Amino acid sequence: MDLWLKEGQIADAAMTYKIRETLHTEKTQYQDLAILDTYEFGRMLVLDGIVQTTIRDEFVYHEMITHVPLFTHPNPKKVLVVGGGDGGVIREVLKHPSVEKAVLCEIDRRVIELSKEYLPEISCGLLDERAEVFIGDGIQYVIEHKNEFDFIVVDSTDPFGAAEGLFNKSFYESLYECLKEDGIFVAQTETPFYLPQVVKKVYNDISNAFPITRLYMAAIPTYPGVYWSFTMGSKKFDPLTADTNKIPEMNTKYYHRDLHKACFVLPKYVKDLIES
Ligand code: SAM
Repeated sequence: MDLWLKEGQIADAAMTYKIRETLHTEKTQYQDLAILDTYEFGRMLVLDGIVQTTIRDEFVYHEMITHVPLFTHPNPKKVLVVGGGDGGVIREVLKHPSVEKAVLCEIDRRVIELSKEYLPEISCGLLDERAEVFIGDGIQYVIEHKNEFDFIVVDSTDPFGAAEGLFNKSFYESLYECLKEDGIFVAQTETPFYLPQVVKKVYNDISNAFPITRLYMAAIPTYPGVYWSFTMGSKKFDPLTADTNKIPEMNTKYYHRDLHKACFVLPKYVKDLIES
């Protein structure tokens, strides 16, 4: 018998994946968690029926959410990742030799434990001695740490449940306070095709909190609409004026020097959405 996962983020449309094996399922304190082995994408982390990351296409998301803002900052030393319990962002952050410490603040310890067990290719950075794990709510953590980080990544689930407050205006104001005077933050900001109002509201809210706001995109096959948005809020450095000649060759599969500015060139419907 064929088993298929029907992904549940968008109410009236869905992507489906043929399952080779169900490796683990459980109800954690915060969400329904599944680790599935799929024919097309390999092992996959699914939370509340929504695909978070897969072995085959994780590189796009993790490289793009990390390296575009990190190569905009000239000397990032201390980094915070909110959410991101699979460890993929930490792995990419730690490719930057200037980074001395990367704190992961994840609300659900089971995401970390099971990612270590089933997704070692993604979670491997969590074993690095510069990585520090804190289990707790990212909103509270950010409020309690002021003027501390050079770079913050909000690698969250979608804006429901525990992650709802990570898409709020007041959270962006707290992020501003949590960053040092020249800090940068970035968040995954959903699909402009299916959720234009979410993308627009987040862009406006970040623009109200930060002097420089930039939206960029990348093609992630397992996310609804494929073409996914990321929004950066920066106190001082603008990715569009970064000296890309200084970006070194790296062990990446999606991000490279020429893409650093090119990913900010948006299709007209997205440009119109955020400029209107
Ligand atoms: N790359 C993924 C995506 O865009 O679908 C996100 C991956 S990562 C697994 C998202 C993590 O955010 C989840 O493990 C979830 O537990 C965590 N999370 C949700 N709300 C949170 C909060 N308020 N504080 C810290 N972590 C949170």
